[in-house]
Amino acid sequence: MSTITHHVTEPVLMAYAAGTLETPYAVVVATHISMCDECRARLAAHEHVGGVVLDQGGSEPLSGDLKARVFAGLDAEPAAPEPEVRPDIPYGRSGIFPAPVMTALKGKPPKWKRLGFGVRQSILHASQQGSVRLLYIPGGQAVPDHSHRGLELTLVLQGAFEDETGRFGVGDLESADDDLDHAPTAVKGAACICLAATGAPLRFNSLVPRIFQPIFRI
Ligand code: ZN
Ligand code: ZN
Repeated sequence: MSTITHHVTEPVLMAYAAGTLETPYAVVVATHISMCDECRARLAAHEHVGGVVLDQGGSEPLSGDLKARVFAGLDAEPAAPEPEVRPDIPYGRSGIFPAPVMTALKGKPPKWKRLGFGVRQSILHASQQGSVRLLYIPGGQAVPDHSHRGLELTLVLQGAFEDETGRFGVGDLESADDDLDHAPTAVKGAACICLAATGAPLRFNSLVPRIFQPIFRI
């Protein structure tokens, strides 16, 4: 996708190539790489230099038999314990969700929970390492102003958002750290759907979201 202007940072890409990046971030990086020729080439260069052997599945094109495999999976293990997210084993793209997101969703549609003001989230994976979730932000709506205790990676899958650092469209990846205190706002028009990973709970700067934070596991 040639319109992508915000890419994976070098330290994060190196950690991903070495297999040391925490799962929540790895899901976002794998998804960006599946959408971005430039970062796919950078990753290939890292793997060549480092001799790191990685499953190449993350960059596989669309799979035609997604539906069959999804239903086969549903039949096979209805009550199995939640497996760890494996961003390197794609189900194939479905709609706006690239293969690594479908893998994190285990092939099922997202379960959206309301956060207020039309904003919704669907947590894909949460552990001691952090969490990765889908965010649905109606056009023109702002996400509450917050800062971060660690790295936050946000990848746009639909629509666009803007914050103090710039504009992020489909495929763009924002890397926000402890220094950034921001209030992302979805651009007017189609709802903005993002994939976001954090290593620690966000710090909201107003009282109300702070009260709701433990409930919604933001
Ligand atoms: Zn890129
Ligand atoms: Zn943020």
